[in-house]
Amino acid sequence: MVMGIKSRFCSRCGKETDKLLNSLCGDCYLEEHKIKAPGKCFVFYCNHCDSVLLEGVWTKCSGKAEQHLIDKLKTMIKLPEGETIQKIELVPYKKGFRSKVTTKLLGKSHIYELATFLELRKRICRVCTQQKTDFWNSKVQVRVKNKSKDFSNKLFDSLGYLKKKIVKAEEQKKGVDLFFGDKKTGKDAAGRIKTKFGLRMSQSAEQYSWNKSKNRPKYRHVMLLREK
Ligand SMILES: [Zn+2]
Ligand SMILES: [Zn+2]
Repeated sequence: MVMGIKSRFCSRCGKETDKLLNSLCGDCYLEEHKIKAPGKCFVFYCNHCDSVLLEGVWTKCSGKAEQHLIDKLKTMIKLPEGETIQKIELVPYKKGFRSKVTTKLLGKSHIYELATFLELRKRICRVCTQQKTDFWNSKVQVRVKNKSKDFSNKLFDSLGYLKKKIVKAEEQKKGVDLFFGDKKTGKDAAGRIKTKFGLRMSQSAEQYSWNKSKNRPKYRHVMLLREK
């Protein structure tokens, strides 16, 4: 055996190449290490208001709802070490989708047609259920200069038990709007976010209907939190 000379031949098929992984060429490596994908992947979706259920919170989509399926699938696919996902495309299939996944290994692209069944499962969100009643009385608007990708999740987590009290969240370009059923909860939530993220708060009232019995307008509480 000759020591010290790095082999440039695949130990499986004998092909000569500079690009070896565990002494295998890309093709042989993928023969021995296969991509793993789930049988199904779904996201709950309210088609009345175009919201999806993310981490237990109904969140209005800023883009296509299907993107959330792609994002979720991405977290469920297990790739062999060294292989990375480049692109996922959805292909309509029955009442849902299948996917075409492009990956890269040792500089070479591979395309997989996964059998995973992807689905936007229709559910009516809490807000649409209560549409005819006054579903929210307090809105917390959070705005930042640079919104990170996990901004909303960080925000939800900072709320602790109050997270469950969010009746709806709406993604905004520079932040997110949170809706609460009553003023006290909204105020508590705003207080926590203000402290946690060091924001400045201003408050206002928004007239939304007329109280006929009392002959005066009905107001909702709006709190705006901004970076100092
Ligand atoms: Zn090989
Ligand atoms: Zn809805």
